[in-house]
Amino acid sequence: MDLSYILNHLGEDRDRYHGAVVPPLVQSSIFAFPTVAQMRAGFRDEYAGHVYTRGNNPTVAMLRAKLAALEGAEDCLVFGSGAAAIAAGVIACVGQGDHVVCAARPYSWTRSLLQDFLPRFGVEARFVDGGEAASFEAALTERTRLIVLESPNSMTFEQQDLAGIAALARRRGIRTLCDNSHATPLNQSPIALGIDLVAHSATKYLNGHSDVVAGALCGPASLLRGVFKGPYMTLGAILSPHDAWLMLRGLRTLEIRMERVAASTRTVLTWLEAQPRIRRVWSPQAADNPQLGLSARQLRGASGLVTIDLDAADVAAVERFCDGLTRFLMTVSWGGYESLAFPVCAVFPPGTPLRPAKGLALSLVRLSIGLEDPQVLIDDLARALARL
Ligand code: PLP
Repeated sequence: MDLSYILNHLGEDRDRYHGAVVPPLVQSSIFAFPTVAQMRAGFRDEYAGHVYTRGNNPTVAMLRAKLAALEGAEDCLVFGSGAAAIAAGVIACVGQGDHVVCAARPYSWTRSLLQDFLPRFGVEARFVDGGEAASFEAALTERTRLIVLESPNSMTFEQQDLAGIAALARRRGIRTLCDNSHATPLNQSPIALGIDLVAHSATKYLNGHSDVVAGALCGPASLLRGVFKGPYMTLGAILSPHDAWLMLRGLRTLEIRMERVAASTRTVLTWLEAQPRIRRVWSPQAADNPQLGLSARQLRGASGLVTIDLDAADVAAVERFCDGLTRFLMTVSWGGYESLAFPVCAVFPPGTPLRPAKGLALSLVRLSIGLEDPQVLIDDLARALARL
């Protein structure tokens, strides 16, 4: 993959806008036609032409081309959020009476879509523990139309065998969708492993600046045309041209940001693993991760998510640790330039509907390693650990 070509040039046609290095922001909801015949032609292919920005927009199209190329996909549609992209992909693949198999512990709103929302429309889902194709095979029914994967997932980073599950699904005529937000297209290529649709919370690393909420769905052109005619146009959860333009800017530095994040994460991870007041460290690269073989097979590098289990006597100690952090900002999400801490179970204690998954300890804190000097982050963590 010629990354610098994709990030700096692909989809950009500078001759058409005075040689400007930065592409124009086409902040227009509508596009006018000089003749009725041209308008008629525009409506014949709203997917490719420019009629109305809910369907297509030149700034948004530039982003779509880059994201498709990054994922090695024929095409990409972008959305107003990652949740919208996942929902559109799922809805396009299923109908009343169908069955979906999903990896256990996906992102909370993916779980909610499958567990709470779609059953109202006659679509049932089953969640499968374990990353092997055999576990997924055992969960399939005659009505299964889609397998939803999230590898690694976003709290404890469990992975699924993407090539094995994709091969199984193809044999059975079942579609596959993988949330690749954690790895990014730089570190994992689900389509090359046989997955049909790849979804992203582009809010995270793809944009990388914590100033846009966006989603992407990449896959075969024929499938995406169906998504376009269905949930994309009818639900209208599109990305605005302005947010697409900001994303184009964010993407310019994707490669260099991910290099820095990977190097810093390795340094911070090694330090965290040696701390006596930390019971366990989760990362696809953690020394005790039972899926290290899968990490080596599927992932080309590390992202910046690390979850730690503090040796905390109670929730008050977790709060003392988190309240003591000065360089890590305490909030949700991840993948921006800044380091973050999310005390997930202390914020959503047992019984809270938004709690991400059953069985997670109250003492878990998810860290997102950003672009700061890793020693600054280690010093901050050391000061906070001393407050336990
Ligand atoms: N997928 C994963 C793994 C996530 O962590 C998130 C958000 O945190 C989403 C999807 C949803 O993305 P968005 O917040 O952009 O809707």
